[in-house]
Amino acid sequence: TNASLNFKDYIRVIEDFPTPGISFKDITTLLKDGQAYRAAIQELRSMVEKYQIDLIAGPEARGFVIGAPLALELGVGFVPVRKSGKLPGETISASYSLEYGSDQLAMHKDAIVPGQRVLIADDLLATGGTIATVVELVQKLGGVIVGAAFLIELEELQGRKKFEGIEVHSLVTY
Ligand code: IMP
Repeated sequence: TNASLNFKDYIRVIEDFPTPGISFKDITTLLKDGQAYRAAIQELRSMVEKYQIDLIAGPEARGFVIGAPLALELGVGFVPVRKSGKLPGETISASYSLEYGSDQLAMHKDAIVPGQRVLIADDLLATGGTIATVVELVQKLGGVIVGAAFLIELEELQGRKKFEGIEVHSLVTY
């Protein structure tokens, strides 16, 4: 990993998006830089490789951009958590709230074998509503949550308080 990279330098902050008062952390500026993107994924790997992980679960869409390359780095599988109505097989779903708005997330019923150890990954932890829903779905399927990894954590919103007992790792905090 590249300890000299300051990932904040690669994240663009856009005020009042998507609604007034939201200070949006835009990771597209990090993703388009091959060195920074790879370094970010490798840094996350170094934070979570101590866990015994069978699968990474990540919510669409930016959870795929972090979770899938992290799964490749670790040599484990990836499970997409999608908005309701997108997955073709039998699903379970649960509703969730965002920093702005609300929606439903779904997983395939056979995505996890009971007892499998699951790391959750997403781009950003805000209120924790999204990840709480992923936790709920994974646990309903019998998965064991070993931790959660994020590029960005918005500390003020105290999302990690929603997960007493789940270790939360983030590269960058605001
Ligand atoms: P939470 O459910 O409140 O923790 O919100 C986290 C979810 O909302 C993540 O899936 C993020 O992709 C998205 N999100 C919330 N705020 C931001 C932001 O400032 N930048 C990028 N994504 C955000």
